[in-house]
Amino acid sequence: MNINSKEYFIDEWLYYRKIINEKLLSAFMQIPRENFIGDNPASDAYRDQPLSIGFGQTISQPSTVMLMLELLNLERTHTVLEIGGGSGYSAALMSRLVKEVVSIEIIPELVTFANKNLAQTKISNVMMVNFDGKVGYEKKAPFDRIVIAAATLAVPQPLFHQLKVGGVLLAPVGDVHCCTMRKFIKHSDNDFDESRHGLFSFVPLV
Ligand code: SAH
Repeated sequence: MNINSKEYFIDEWLYYRKIINEKLLSAFMQIPRENFIGDNPASDAYRDQPLSIGFGQTISQPSTVMLMLELLNLERTHTVLEIGGGSGYSAALMSRLVKEVVSIEIIPELVTFANKNLAQTKISNVMMVNFDGKVGYEKKAPFDRIVIAAATLAVPQPLFHQLKVGGVLLAPVGDVHCCTMRKFIKHSDNDFDESRHGLFSFVPLV
């Protein structure tokens, strides 16, 4: 089997029991990552690595995106807020699993890029917003799930406020080269459960 293929990823994830959620694996099969990698060769789409999408930014590594989506426990009824839309790829995967995704991206050219990629993939339940994600998106709050796709030293407070009670917020917290994937479950405005899910590298939340 070609080791740079979708099927190889699925086999590996199942074999090591890293990603086992069938709906999530099906979303991965449905969304062509090659539509989200810009000028990179299509043959690189299924290498397990981040790829440059210009402006110093990257589309995240498939395994990392999938691990994050596992941790989010997404449901059909959910509205999700993503901070750091980039290429639109992770939003596209989520769009197959939830009701609606609001994805905030600070670089206007990347919003255009993501919108083009999403349209080409015929996805209509992702709203890309050009904004600073640190303030969240009050207009559509509260959210069932919030995911930050960039390394941050601390989770911006407005995001905790814009999360529903019972909701999950996921963020790589720490230095860009070594941040800890942290999952927060909100019990009330000042009571959160927190768990840690390994070390990663991410571009910074600016
Ligand atoms: N989820 C993306 C990858 C994200 S990379 C994908 O699937 O392709 C992180 C992104 O966060 C970058 O595009 C960067 O421009 C964006 N970003 C950084 N700081 C931000 C901020 N304060 N608000 C919104 N987006 C931000």
